[in-house]
Amino acid sequence: MLQALQASKDFLKLTLDNPFSLDEELAFSLKNATQVSVWDTGVIVFEPSDSQGKDIILSCAVHGNETAPIELCNELISEILAETITLNQRVMFLIGNPAAIHNGTRFIDENLNRLFSGAHSKGEGLANPERVRAKKLESYVDRFFEEGDAASQKIHYDLHTAIRGSKHEKFAIYPYRPGRAYSSEQIMFLAACGIETVLFHHEPTTTFSYYSSEKYQADAFTIELGKVMPMGQNDMTRFIALKEMLVRLVSAKPLELEPFDAAKLNLYQVCRAINKGFEDFEFTFANDVENFTAFPQGYILAKEGGNDIKIEQPVEAIVFPNANVPVGQRTVLMLKPASTENIA
Ligand code: ZN
Repeated sequence: MLQALQASKDFLKLTLDNPFSLDEELAFSLKNATQVSVWDTGVIVFEPSDSQGKDIILSCAVHGNETAPIELCNELISEILAETITLNQRVMFLIGNPAAIHNGTRFIDENLNRLFSGAHSKGEGLANPERVRAKKLESYVDRFFEEGDAASQKIHYDLHTAIRGSKHEKFAIYPYRPGRAYSSEQIMFLAACGIETVLFHHEPTTTFSYYSSEKYQADAFTIELGKVMPMGQNDMTRFIALKEMLVRLVSAKPLELEPFDAAKLNLYQVCRAINKGFEDFEFTFANDVENFTAFPQGYILAKEGGNDIKIEQPVEAIVFPNANVPVGQRTVLMLKPASTENIA
């Protein structure tokens, strides 16, 4: 297994050949003295001898059919293994749900990105594949950040693609972080990656990025990179800026970020989440409406249980509408323009 990885440098293949677990941890070092450790299927850690104060997690495939981030991460891993990228920061890559990649589906039994911060151990369905994996992924984040220098900057970018089209092709969700200002430097890093749209979330969630943000005060984001495509059909030229900036980040090269300028960005505040209250919940808009489509006050957005759900603010935009969720879960996030007063 170790020799196969060293020869092929294809970590995704090793992961998909072992979708649920590995029999043993693997460890070796590269000629440039970077230590490589495979802690589990889909979990690979790189530790250079000379780390410059950032501990970085890049995760993908928390949703198994979101292939572009998987291809991007596997490219970076291959180039690190081939030593064409020289690391100067500790980096962990996580391939979130290998069994769902195998299936070509978003998940096997349950949405993995609703199962963090302990949600994997609450309620029904206690031992399904996603709950088992969520608990393990939390433990790998814990181990990675706790084995690093306590003073290191902790970063976690959780990479996704969206189900539907979007008025802003790439966007990031900034988890709720009470008592901590939003980082203008992080926002400008994302902009340099080609991600010029940021949503500030308004409450705690059970997403992977919120877990790292809340537990480790990490600079953590859920990042949406465009529309879901089958494996191998992604136009990787759409990710040139992102890949270049990630390589600079992990290599500790100068980032050369522009100063913060809200005029060059699309900043949204989540004003509410609309949860499904009745089985007959339905949106009034067409299925192919894009993310960030805006609706005026009073517009009837959805109907359920004989009631209308209306737009409350002067204008609200939608993101992630999905009526096909269990009762009690989120059907859509509603957005309004964000103020910049909490960005430092
Ligand atoms: Zn996703």
